[in-house]
This record gives sequence, C-alpha cells and structure tokens, in this order.
Amino acid sequence: METFTKTKKHHAICLPLPLQSHINAMLKLAKLLHFKGFHITFVNTEFNHQRLLNAVGSKSLEGLPDFRFKTIPDGLPSSDINTTQDILALLESISKNCLVPLINLISKLNEESDDPRVSCIVADCTTSFALNASEKLGIPGVIFLPVSPCVMASYLHCQVLIDKGLIPPIDKRTPANWYPDMPITVIPGVRDIRVKDLSSSFGDENDFVHNFSFRAIHESSKASAIIMHTFDALESEVLNAIQPLLPPIYTIGPLQLLEQNIPNTHQLTSLRSNLLEEDQKCFEWLDMKAPNSVVYVNFGSTTVLTKQQLIEFAWGLVNCKHPFLWVIRPDIVIGETAILPPEFTEEIADKGMISGWCPQEQVLGHSSIGAFLTHSGWNSTLDTICSGVPIISWPFAGDQPINSRYSCFHWGIGMEMDKDVKREKVEGLVRELMESDKGKRMKEKAMEWKKSAHESTKAGGSSYANLDKVIKEVLA
Ligand code: UDP
Repeated sequence: METFTKTKKHHAICLPLPLQSHINAMLKLAKLLHFKGFHITFVNTEFNHQRLLNAVGSKSLEGLPDFRFKTIPDGLPSSDINTTQDILALLESISKNCLVPLINLISKLNEESDDPRVSCIVADCTTSFALNASEKLGIPGVIFLPVSPCVMASYLHCQVLIDKGLIPPIDKRTPANWYPDMPITVIPGVRDIRVKDLSSSFGDENDFVHNFSFRAIHESSKASAIIMHTFDALESEVLNAIQPLLPPIYTIGPLQLLEQNIPNTHQLTSLRSNLLEEDQKCFEWLDMKAPNSVVYVNFGSTTVLTKQQLIEFAWGLVNCKHPFLWVIRPDIVIGETAILPPEFTEEIADKGMISGWCPQEQVLGHSSIGAFLTHSGWNSTLDTICSGVPIISWPFAGDQPINSRYSCFHWGIGMEMDKDVKREKVEGLVRELMESDKGKRMKEKAMEWKKSAHESTKAGGSSYANLDKVIKEVLA
C-alpha cells in the first residue's frame, strides 16, 4: 500500500458519532488516512474522551504531532453525562448542539500556524450536520457510512413503502393492515427482508429516531462522496442499486482487514478506541481450549437485556455443554447491575468465562472460537466475517434485524433466534451450529466470506483500490 505523500499537506477532520461502534470504525479509517499521508484531527465528545482516557490511559491517546485528538461538548448537561444508555438524548443533543463547537474548533486549528489548514471533513452519516461546516469552509465533506448499505437503501425508498401501505403509523396498526412477516420486494437491490426487519420506528414521521435517521441518510446525498464500510463482493446488488441515487460511493471494508496493511511498526497501530477496559485474561482461558470448541457471546455496546433474558441465556449456555466466553457489560441489564444469580457461579466456573469487555476482533480470530452468539450489529457482523466464524443471531434493534437476515439467509453464515429468549432454544441452536452438518456448512460459508473479505482488502482488491481512489479523487 503506497503512502500518499511524506510531507503532510492535507488535514482531515474525522468526526464519528459518539458511540462505541462508530468510534471504532472511524478510528480505523483515520489511521489509514494518516498512513496515506494525512494530518488527522480526530474529534471525540468530551465525555467519550474522558471514558477513553479511563479505559486506555492517556499515553495511548497522545497520538503523534500529526494525529491529534480534540474534543467538543456533546451538549448534554453534565448531570446527565453519566447515562451511557440514553442514546436518544445524545442523538438529539449532538444534532442540535455540535455544529457551532465544530466550526469553532476548525477555525482554531486553522489559526495554529504549524498545522496544515483543514482540507476535508470525514463525518459519520449520523453527524451529517458537519457537511454545513465543510460547505461553509469550501472544502470536501465526505460521509462515512458505518452500517450496511441496505439500511441506506431502505431509507431512500421509505416513501414507496409508506405509499404501498406496508408500514402504517405505529398507532394505527391493526391485524388488517399490519403484516410483519410480509417479505419486502420493493427496495431495489435488497432481498430477503420482511416488514418486521425494518427498525421499529421506520416510517413513523412522529418518531424522533425515524426522523433523525431519515434526515441523516437524505442529507448524505449532499456530500462530496460516501465512504461505505462494506466490500463489493458482499453487497454488490444493493450497491449497484443505490449508486445512481447518491454521490460517488467508495467501499473500503472491512476496515478490520484493510487496517492490517499498515506495517506493525507504525506508531499508530497500538492506538485503541475501547471506552471500556479490555479484559486480556480471556486469551489465557481460550488458549487452553480445543480448536473451534468455544461459543463466544457478545451483544455489543448498547443492547440491553432484561434480567430474565440474562438468566435464559445463562441456562442455555450452561446446558449446551460447550465452553463459552460471555461478555456481560456492566450496564447490559437496564437499571440493574448485571450480576448473575449465585447458583450460576459454580456452573459457569466449570464451563465458561465471563468478561466485562474484550478485544473482540482478536477473540474472534482465536482458533478456539467455534461460534458467535451475536446481536448482529454491523461491526460485529464484519468482525465475524473477517474471522470466518458462523453465528447465532439474536438481533435487538435498529439495523440489526436486516444484518441478521442477510447473515442467515443471504450469506448463509448462521441461524436466527427468536426475540423471545428461551433456554431450550439457546441450547438447541448452539448444539445445532456446533454439532450438525448444517452447522458445518455454515462454517464453510463463513470461511468463503472470510476469503472474499481478505481478497477485497489485499493489493488488487476492490476496497484496497477504493481507499486510494477516494483520496485521489475527493479528499486530496
Ligand atoms: N467490541 C469489542 N469488545 C466487546 C464488544 C464489542 O471490542 O467486548 C467492539 C466490536 O469489535 C465492534 C463494536 O465493539 O467494533 C460493536 O459494534 P456493533 O456494530 O457490532 O454493535 P453496537 O455496539 O453498535 O451495538
């Protein structure tokens, strides 16, 4: 991978949505841009920057003279700032309050004589207000889409779905007009999804999340380009279908693999973005397990469970008789501490390991991992594809049901689990995936997609080439 220039003339502002998965993906992109010769200013909210400092230590965030972290306030009152689960308040606040601090930050950076002037903005799709800043400054504003393009396609065709009567307003749904299992066939390039796979607020013009997402997707069309976190071979149909509706699209995923093209010796490779402290002890435990024997369980950074769901998962995992590594975030059970009842402690000590947060990409890459019980967040989906690990999918909200349908029905890498968690189901699906011929075929499929992902990100691959293209054609 060629670096773009040795002396840094170009200065990119990288602005993620202040949520864990979005920060992870944007940081990888920022590191790649830095490797390609960009001066980087990575903008976190003050709150997340403090969390990062607590989790990874100030040394890891010092960056380099040409890779800096800067902060802007998220606009939430400081008394609310500890509520990591109130995502709605956060989304509302950043869309109202962050543009002015962002513009002020850029003006200040431009006045610092030793840094190159800010020459482009790369903003998360959900922080598209940043496009106003790039327009004001007369520099390219590029949107980074850290979710599947199927989600973008569904919002682009939202009106068609409403006009066809497929998604009546939530308060007007009756058995006569609401068919959650009805297949959706009217979104060009998108297949195999049902009405209920759309986000629960989809199409509801009175709902904040719908309006926020709808606006973000539609405003993206004002960008100079859209960088998508996927790869051509994985989602060619939908990519072909949305291309004519949008600014130039550059697919550069999986960043998990593209990032590996940066030499190990590069100063930024050790830079981490976890907001919670990573538990490294799980590797000692995994090292003692046989290849492909462990079920890895992780529902990402925002999914919340009820206490009963936690218990059903716990019994299902204990009863399946396969070793398991289960990441239980401290805030996974809403309003309560996520502590398993004492009767599990002995059972779990015998068969499993519980951790609060782990380095997921490395865990999935460990030879002992045989299956991933996941909520099908987009980053977790790409993480598992990169490692060739088949899944049991328990989608929770947002884009996860679509990712889950694609994983299970389109790419053939897993099995879906009912929303209503039952221990017998958990046990049955784990056994089926780990022990049956059907499970073996899913493992084979997952390995095929892994190969395809690696090919896309190696020299000559589409994502490898697209990174250079977006730099040459837009960012520089
Ligand atoms: N992740 C991690 N350790 C964990 C859990 C998650 O490093 O214990 C990372 C994972 O690699 C991914 C992100 O957190 O980058 C989760 O993103 P995803 O889109 O799957 O889910 P979300 O958190 O948005 O629900």
